[in-house]
Amino acid sequence: MATEATTGPSPINKTAHPFTRGALEDLLSRRFFYAPAFEIYGGVAGLYDYGPPGSALHANILHEWRKHFIIEESMLELDTTIMTPSPVFETSGHVARFADWMVKDTKTGDVLRADHLVEGVLEARLKGDKEARGVAATEEAEVDPKKKKKKAVKTTAVKLDDVVVQEYETVLNQIDNYTGPQLGELIQKFNIVNPDTGNPVDEPVQFNLMFDSSIGPTGKIKGYLRPETAQGHFLNFQRLLAFNNGQIPFASAQIGRSFRNEISPRAGLLRVREFTMSEIEHYVDPLDKSHSRFPEVKDLKLRFLAKDVQAAGRSEISEITVGEAVASKMVDNETLGYFLARIYLFLSKIGVDHDRLRFRQHMANEMAHYASDCWDAEIETSYGWIECVGCADRSAYDLTVHSKATGKPLVARQNLAEPIVEEKETPEFNLKLWGKTFKGDGDRVKAIVNGLGEDGLVKLRDDLSKGPVEVSDANGDKFTITPEMVKIEKKTTKISIREFTPNVIEPSFGIGRIMYSLLEHVYWARESDAARGVLSLPPMVAPTKCLIVPISNQEVFQPLIKDISSKLRAAGVYARVDDSGASIGKRYARNDELGTPYGCTLDFASVQNGTMTLRERDTTDQLIGKVDEVVEVVKDLVFGQLDWEGACKKLPKYTGVQDV
Ligand code: AMP
Repeated sequence: MATEATTGPSPINKTAHPFTRGALEDLLSRRFFYAPAFEIYGGVAGLYDYGPPGSALHANILHEWRKHFIIEESMLELDTTIMTPSPVFETSGHVARFADWMVKDTKTGDVLRADHLVEGVLEARLKGDKEARGVAATEEAEVDPKKKKKKAVKTTAVKLDDVVVQEYETVLNQIDNYTGPQLGELIQKFNIVNPDTGNPVDEPVQFNLMFDSSIGPTGKIKGYLRPETAQGHFLNFQRLLAFNNGQIPFASAQIGRSFRNEISPRAGLLRVREFTMSEIEHYVDPLDKSHSRFPEVKDLKLRFLAKDVQAAGRSEISEITVGEAVASKMVDNETLGYFLARIYLFLSKIGVDHDRLRFRQHMANEMAHYASDCWDAEIETSYGWIECVGCADRSAYDLTVHSKATGKPLVARQNLAEPIVEEKETPEFNLKLWGKTFKGDGDRVKAIVNGLGEDGLVKLRDDLSKGPVEVSDANGDKFTITPEMVKIEKKTTKISIREFTPNVIEPSFGIGRIMYSLLEHVYWARESDAARGVLSLPPMVAPTKCLIVPISNQEVFQPLIKDISSKLRAAGVYARVDDSGASIGKRYARNDELGTPYGCTLDFASVQNGTMTLRERDTTDQLIGKVDEVVEVVKDLVFGQLDWEGACKKLPKYTGVQDV
């Protein structure tokens, strides 16, 4: 092996070929990143299995997520159950409200998601208008024709009135903000029919997205597969708080599977029925939503799409610092702003293109039933802007409703420097009679009475003076209280401990969506050949970090391969040996498709001299060095201690015959 003076990395052109989703999907399928689950039984929409590189990439993203959030912020990790008894979701509001609007084809009975129908038809009409005006519809050319036939609404080149174009654009810019009845009005107004059949559709109706089940053999205990991990955090709040020595703020975090019975799963991993979520619940004092680490991120510039801009039917971005966004109240508070910045840093770190990342604020109707402010981290893909992380201020909603429903306090306490003396209506319970009457429900009924407030207690006292009174909880369960059971009197109390229900800021990540969007961002094809795809995954998330490639599969290489493998293993670098009979070029090409950032090549000179070359995936540059030196450099590259430019300074460039 000859050596030469070192120079910097070779230039590369990642934009020589336009992105085509078909080429990427073909690669992901061939290399078994993921595939339809139960494929040989015909598959089920919205369910996917990950193969070896997909599983490794998924696990590596989660590993970075744990480091970036849980370890960096000393969060308390949880692993709670997926199967959840019905009362939990009745209380949280999911049974009543975790639903999407769907419409039925009046003749075939086919079901369509109402907002997707309106969106698809209006977008197709706008494309048709562009075609009629002779403006190229660029995205269309990039879509896999096979997929387009199945999923996109057929475009007809018909010129629209300018006013109609404006109206459609306004509707599309706020498509997430419509209620079911409003979607019904749009369907009527714009004469929207099922594009697959040309038939009219019914009025939108709600469809609950939770999968239901029953627990145990009697079938009497109704349960659901959780649609998010959050409730598991809230129900354990009091234990978490005790674990944290009663101190607020703190955060809990959980990685786990969630299930949503999506009406029309589509777009591969982007809308599926079973997926991994990583969720953080950060508990703060409602009177103080500052964050001690906010100064670290306040100067970071993010791209914001605020709700008032969308409500005006527009979509322009304001690129301002998190500090400015919070100061102007566009982002409600420091803690919310802090997490938006941390989400940005995480996504950028794992390889998402920060120019194709924006934070979009929810509009009023779109906001989940529990949220008081909400921003989505949206990533631009060939499917449009996709919500990959939701970051909501859930206020005190969840802890309050669960506490009311169970009668168990889910509150934090703070010692007051100055005790507060106040006169207030105070219920005094006849505990014996109370316990005998309500048994296991005693705490729940007490919570109803305690939650009545001053005016409610005065009214209850008046009502009780006339006889028994019926009270009910949030679930509508009714209980009768008699005058003997409780005495309500005005009492003077000295409060030296303030009791409050924390507010919750929740960043909620869908890992499959992030993974697919990332794959679109890192995919490109070599200038020399559009079919030679490369996944430029950052080493930290790449499924395999290093490929060991002997020039031939002769026995003579075995001791050296073993030695290098064990050295890389000891350094914590996940490496694989490819001693297949394929040419070196083919082996490199396969690993470029798998996103393997480094390759160590061994030839006969290696056996003699104990040297090997080190190839970098994107530039295809090769360096050379002694085995131990190269292993050290690979380790530093993989663990982010060194970049390729730095590696080029440590090892000489190799210009021998092995390159492809
Ligand atoms: P949400 O609770 O609806 O805000 O969802 C939180 C995150 O879960 C989203 O930002 C997505 O990344 C992910 N997500 C939600 N629904 C799906 C789905 N059907 N398929 C894949 N990911 C999803």
